[in-house]
Amino acid sequence: MTQRGERAAGAIVGSAVGDALGAPFEFGPEGAFSVRFPEPGAGGEMCGGGGWDPGEATDDTQMAVLVADSLLERGALELPDVFARFVRWAAADPKDIGLQTEVVLTSGDPWNLAAALHFQTHHRAAGNGALMRAAPAAVHFAGHGRTASLDAARRIAALTHGDRAAWEGSAILHDLVRVALDGGDPVAPAVVADALAQVPEPFHERWAAVLAPDWHPGLATEFNGAVWPCLGSAVWAVRTTGGFEAALRAAVDLGGDTDTVAAVTGTLAGAAYGLAAVPGRWTAALHVPMPGSPGRVLRLADLVALSARLTGD
Ligand SMILES: [Mg+2]
Repeated sequence: MTQRGERAAGAIVGSAVGDALGAPFEFGPEGAFSVRFPEPGAGGEMCGGGGWDPGEATDDTQMAVLVADSLLERGALELPDVFARFVRWAAADPKDIGLQTEVVLTSGDPWNLAAALHFQTHHRAAGNGALMRAAPAAVHFAGHGRTASLDAARRIAALTHGDRAAWEGSAILHDLVRVALDGGDPVAPAVVADALAQVPEPFHERWAAVLAPDWHPGLATEFNGAVWPCLGSAVWAVRTTGGFEAALRAAVDLGGDTDTVAAVTGTLAGAAYGLAAVPGRWTAALHVPMPGSPGRVLRLADLVALSARLTGD
């Protein structure tokens, strides 16, 4: 595997690992993970609970796989096809689905209107539900150049999230992953500032706050199910630790929307450190059942193969 391929696989597997690691701790208190697993590296962390089997990935990874499937089968970004896959998945009764995502996908409205109509009625549409599924598209479009990557990020986010703030979150994450795949440090202050510079007004200020080099999750003004503190926390977790495992522990320890914060952290940390940095005792149990595709369960090798096809490696 090339270094670039190793980092791409790190992003995709890292995201799924974070999702599965965080799922049992969703809506739990701060520090719950460290209380249960005080010693890093001791094992048993992929523990399951809260309705999840050990290593079972949730809607975050399932939706990411749907995006990957569409890109690979259609050979291009076909938004109606991605949306149709989301709708079929939502109708297959997944164990979990984001509140906002569910309303949009079960509305019966067409792909290019459903999220916008939801935003018009509900006004709150800046959840982290597009960010959580960004890894495959981020990896795929990284090779297509910056403009194409930012554009794809925004358009895929817009399928379920009417608030442009959520689109910009996906765009920033795509940009950081692109830098990481090229061998750069995705959380270096200059890199984060450069990604931030791609965010248009009037969205810039709020993103600048959570991506400031001295920001930490204690400064969050919303629950981390919102897009800003979710990405801010992921960047913080990678910036303030020295490796994949430590970053993921820090993310899950934040409590709240732990599966998604850890999935986004895993995307970034995996892209930065590569697949080899993802603990084998975490990937061993990892599995992604796909509602709507009876019997289909992706494991480590399937995710690595998916990554190779997405990057053309
Ligand atoms: Mg989830």
